[in-house]
Amino acid sequence: MFIDLSAVTQRLRRMSSEELDVSGSYQNFLLDLILEGKQTLGVEHVSVWLFDDISAPKKLINVASTNWQQDLSEDEYPELLCEHFPSYFKAITTGISIDANDATIDPRTCEFKESYLDVYNITTMLDTVIFKNGIPHGVVCFEGTGETRCWQGAEIAYAEMMADCCSRRLLVNDLWCLQQQLTELAFQDALTGLKNRRYLMDYAHREISRHIRSGQQLSVVMLDIDHFKLINDSYGHEVGDVVLKAFAQRCQQALRTEDCLCRLGGEEFIALLPNTPTEGAMEVAERLRRDVEMHIIESGTHYIQVTVSCGVGEVSLAKPFSQSLKEADRAVYSAKAKGRNCVVMY
Ligand code: GH3
Ligand code: MG
Ligand code: MG
Repeated sequence: MFIDLSAVTQRLRRMSSEELDVSGSYQNFLLDLILEGKQTLGVEHVSVWLFDDISAPKKLINVASTNWQQDLSEDEYPELLCEHFPSYFKAITTGISIDANDATIDPRTCEFKESYLDVYNITTMLDTVIFKNGIPHGVVCFEGTGETRCWQGAEIAYAEMMADCCSRRLLVNDLWCLQQQLTELAFQDALTGLKNRRYLMDYAHREISRHIRSGQQLSVVMLDIDHFKLINDSYGHEVGDVVLKAFAQRCQQALRTEDCLCRLGGEEFIALLPNTPTEGAMEVAERLRRDVEMHIIESGTHYIQVTVSCGVGEVSLAKPFSQSLKEADRAVYSAKAKGRNCVVMY
């Protein structure tokens, strides 16, 4: 088969520069590439396989295939154990492309004969290595049926370029995942794992008007642990941290999944309750207050009881969200003045 390397290379280079939607599965962002490879080299099937662990590979995982009729979830990806196909794995780890003209007799691929090649009538294979930081990371496998082939230099060069395009896409995917993690971290409180103030303001900006326009009522409950400074002073800052974490966990468990619990800072928290009028929020706050009071927190040899003062405020489109927060804060102030461990509505 003759391929005009300059034309297909052009196409591949343009394709690999396209913006990717990596929010889906591997299959999604590799498929257009391997379909292109399948057509260009006129093979039956193209698939992408990645090592489970690049530094100590034990198996190859099939992450994309031109044969799949639908997207597979990650736990459905087929796998190949290295120990079952030692010659093939040894060949991959050299990084050199496997041009098995007759795959059934080539020493690098004949291990697949009974279990795979004969089953699917595959006669010829061309596997090129995907690298990551210069180390073999996986392979792109081109498989043909019918007559055996004599893989040409230009075809091998093209298939290697395809593997490079895959590695570039995988790199983009890694960067995207990293970016997702950083975004998550930017909205998370490091000590308790709850959402932070930045998340609350962002969430409020996006969600509140949507909820209210659809006829829902929203409320906020501000929670401030009572005499928390005393806990730090009596047991030390680390025990104080344990108390904050336990408190956060307890409140989180007591709320619904659609409620948004955030740590504002220090020993102050806020719960934003969608679909809840202020009377309902009073009940929620009272339940939280009792829950917190009843549960003794254990830290080393210490058993610590904490109480919390709560302020309830209404969220509405008639005032900025910051105003609702101020009102809840004022209600907390009143609760402190009333003797703490109680709930007050603004
Ligand atoms: P009140 O009942 O009036 O709310 O009294 P309080 O002691 O709870 O309030 P105050 O504002 O006087 O003290 C809050 C303390 O919380 C002071 C601060 O050192 C402590 N704190 C703030 N952030 C952290 C933290 O991340 N870890 C620990 N262990 N303590 C913190
Ligand atoms: Mg406080
Ligand atoms: Mg306090």
